Amino acid sequence: MRRSVTLQYPDELPTLAPRYRGLHGLTVDPETGIENCIGCQACARICPDKLISMDLEKREGHPGRYPTKFYIDLNPCCFCGLCVEVCPTPMKALIMTANFHMVSGEHKDLVLTKGKLLENGRMELAKSRVYQTEVNAEKKAA
Ligand code: SF4
Ligand code: SF4
Repeated sequence: MRRSVTLQYPDELPTLAPRYRGLHGLTVDPETGIENCIGCQACARICPDKLISMDLEKREGHPGRYPTKFYIDLNPCCFCGLCVEVCPTPMKALIMTANFHMVSGEHKDLVLTKGKLLENGRMELAKSRVYQTEVNAEKKAA
């Protein structure tokens, strides 16, 4: 038996598991600045509740098809992670971040737009860079 623990959110935050599945994010290649999504729609096809939709177009310099719009409706999402697992791009265009701060009484606020997805992806990448910098500093100091 474990004692129940109440955290005073948002002043106190939980320690998340390394593979915690939080809000989705879209990633960008940090070297080129090109968005990693190639518009294959594998994520949209595998989602059991069909919560992912996108508009695609052919665009000069972009591999595959470029998503001009990308939506994930989190209202019925069970965070199963299938959409992320199936993404075929080497750099994982679609990820699940450690961000869980999303509360609203409005249905529309829980639909992630492409802008929000890219923002989540950027924040996650920045965090892993901070983490990597810390790891490197520790290695150097050892
Ligand atoms: S986590 Fe699962 S339910 Fe949610 S969008 Fe992805 S595939 Fe669909
Ligand atoms: S996020 Fe991944 S699986 Fe979804 S359309 Fe883009 S490349 Fe395909």
